[in-house]
Amino acid sequence: MEKANLDWEKIPFSYKKTDGHLEYRFSDGKWDEGVVVKDDTISLNIAATCLHYGQECFEGLKVFEGKDRQALVFRIDENAKRLAGSARKILMEEVPEKMFIDSIYKLVKLNRRFIPPHGSGASLYIRPLLLGISPIIGVKPSTEYLYLVFSTPVGPYFPTGLKPIKLLVEESIDRAAPGGVGDVKVGGNYAAGLRATHKAKDLGYNEVLYLDAKEKKYIDESGPANFFGITKDGKYVTPDSNSILPSITNMSLRVLAEEMGLKVEKRPMRVEEIFNLKEAGCCGTAAVITPVKSITCRDKTVTYSERDEIGPVCKELYEKLTAIQLGLAEDKYGWVREIPLD
Ligand SMILES: *Cc1c(COP(=O)(O)O)cnc(C)c1O
Repeated sequence: MEKANLDWEKIPFSYKKTDGHLEYRFSDGKWDEGVVVKDDTISLNIAATCLHYGQECFEGLKVFEGKDRQALVFRIDENAKRLAGSARKILMEEVPEKMFIDSIYKLVKLNRRFIPPHGSGASLYIRPLLLGISPIIGVKPSTEYLYLVFSTPVGPYFPTGLKPIKLLVEESIDRAAPGGVGDVKVGGNYAAGLRATHKAKDLGYNEVLYLDAKEKKYIDESGPANFFGITKDGKYVTPDSNSILPSITNMSLRVLAEEMGLKVEKRPMRVEEIFNLKEAGCCGTAAVITPVKSITCRDKTVTYSERDEIGPVCKELYEKLTAIQLGLAEDKYGWVREIPLD
């Protein structure tokens, strides 16, 4: 099949309609077989719980083309488990792991002409979304659900290369509370953080670094990405807290850091520790690693990258992880699966 006629080297990181998406419905206690839908709009009851009470959760993953034109997906089983965990936490019906994986395989096959060519730096971004759709006006969980999955080809997050970003430690706005839903991938957490990101951007920073909401002593994460630092004595340190979303990228980087001989620590990380790091990064599927240029906290700024370049440890981690994702390095841990396209 011929690829879509797109300027692959230049596609932005934004939504573009593809050949269709899949929809599965849960009602009367069971999931249906799912259907392919060409149109990219959905029709919902005006009283659907997802619209009023935020009963929705999602995932995000990328499919890359390998050098033999294979469609490769990274740790899809972890996304399946995480979506199920998000659903459980806000009392939604879970998407079974097999249904999740099958849905993505079908979707990728359907949209295979939108998988960007190997070497373009672009990928096919997959967005699974689970919505409570019963018309209920009192606050209680839905009994019917819509699971949908769509894809969109996306260019690299940083088209001009890995550009270090400036973070602002935010003390007056919280993303998530200790007993809340910060550890699951629900839209409400993003709504809660919009003000903070907006404010940081207004002040000339790129993103926010949140502190724990209770004591404001420990680092949580950055808006849509986990945070990690490389200490001066060569450790990979990443915060542990029950209001952080467990990033699959971070989980993978910890394994690779250990392979590189770094000591890995996942523990509560005091905000003052930013002054003892030699490199810092934000990590997530969208950008893999976003190197941090500087962090500003309570009128003090620490700079890790004077020349706007990624540090050597972050660079090696980035290269190792992306080589595995692209099928160019040995996949020792069985992280990558090839999606059958015919
Ligand atoms: C999705 C997400 C991440 C990154 O997770 P990955 O699995 O690495 O993509 C980090 N923080 C938040 C809040 C997220 O929603």
